[in-house]
Amino acid sequence: MTDRLYYNDSFLNEFEARVLAVAGAPAATSVVLDRSAFYPTSGGQVFDTGWLEVVADANTSKRLRVRDVTEDEQTGDVLHVVEGESSAVQAGDVVRGVIDGERRRDHMQQHSGQHVLSAAFEKLYDMATVSFHMGDENCTIDLATGSVSPKQLLAVERLANEVIAEDRRVEIRFATPDEARTMGVRKIPAAERENLRLIDIRDFDLNACGGTHVGSTGQIGSILLRKTEKVKQGVRVEFVCGLRAVATARRDFETLTDAATLFSTHIWEVPQQIRKTQDEIKAAQKAQHRLLEEVAELQAASLLQSAPERGGQNLVVQYFAERNLDFIKMLAQKLTKAGKAVALLACGGAQPSLVFAQTTGLSNDMGALMKQTVQTLGTRGGGNRDMAQGGAPDGDRAESAIVEAAKLIAR
Ligand SMILES: [Zn+2]
Repeated sequence: MTDRLYYNDSFLNEFEARVLAVAGAPAATSVVLDRSAFYPTSGGQVFDTGWLEVVADANTSKRLRVRDVTEDEQTGDVLHVVEGESSAVQAGDVVRGVIDGERRRDHMQQHSGQHVLSAAFEKLYDMATVSFHMGDENCTIDLATGSVSPKQLLAVERLANEVIAEDRRVEIRFATPDEARTMGVRKIPAAERENLRLIDIRDFDLNACGGTHVGSTGQIGSILLRKTEKVKQGVRVEFVCGLRAVATARRDFETLTDAATLFSTHIWEVPQQIRKTQDEIKAAQKAQHRLLEEVAELQAASLLQSAPERGGQNLVVQYFAERNLDFIKMLAQKLTKAGKAVALLACGGAQPSLVFAQTTGLSNDMGALMKQTVQTLGTRGGGNRDMAQGGAPDGDRAESAIVEAAKLIAR
């Protein structure tokens, strides 16, 4: 069982230890030490990284990168997964562990911030934290509640940051589970243990935890709450602490500044500008639709005039290289409503298409004709007796397809 040095001192970034065992493949050698300050992934907090330095003699030493740290729950050993050959380190070696201090400080800020945040939710709204996750970008807690309002989020964020500004002492204490129950510990773990490690934020929160924490709340820096979302077990609250909060606020500001520059406005005016632009787009789309309807109306009248008449029905066969499916559908409707007509229309463009339509009551079957046509083209399509649409491989084949279909109508 590895003696966990971080248990008593989260600020210990360098230590000496003896190698107890080395195991695993060359690409994933894991080293067990008699004592370690490296934190293994557990309790929602992710592992430390750093280096193990193996001192061979006064002049030579090897530096092995620690890229993952896990724990063997059965033996209590901490496994340091290092890069490089397994032969580089052997049982009995004395090594010097060096922890990546920047990453450790970040984890301490996030994890201690989580304690403050969870306590604030509980104190203000009696919302218990059921789980905690620390990611590379942000952290989340899941609260056992049906909903959290924006007003509640603001109040919790405010209280949490006040506790940070008050720079309260954060101390490590040990107690038996029975003792802990009388001390008002926020959440006592289910697993039976002789001794619980308690994190005591003076006069604010007392909770059982094995993670690395700051020495006083001021070292958390700040807490910034982000989005919330409904999850199976309640509401998930995303947050960032310390330097991550600053980096996140900086990125938000830069993104907003980019958007504001595009609109030539101040960042606070961006939502208003977006709403205005959306309204303008909607109005322009409406105007364009009206114009296209007018064009379709005029075109329908002129096409009907010049279309040959057979057996009391006008046959319109027309290809539009520059129009789209919406337009030829609109035109087909106008043609078949204006008189007794069969319209075999096609368009080119990005999505070459066919529309076959007839005035209701005429005896052709547009759906069947479309099925036959798309089968020849190797595309898909269909419809009912009066209206059908389908695809074409390209504009040229769409154009020849309506000429072929017209021969079947003419029979
Ligand atoms: Zn903790």
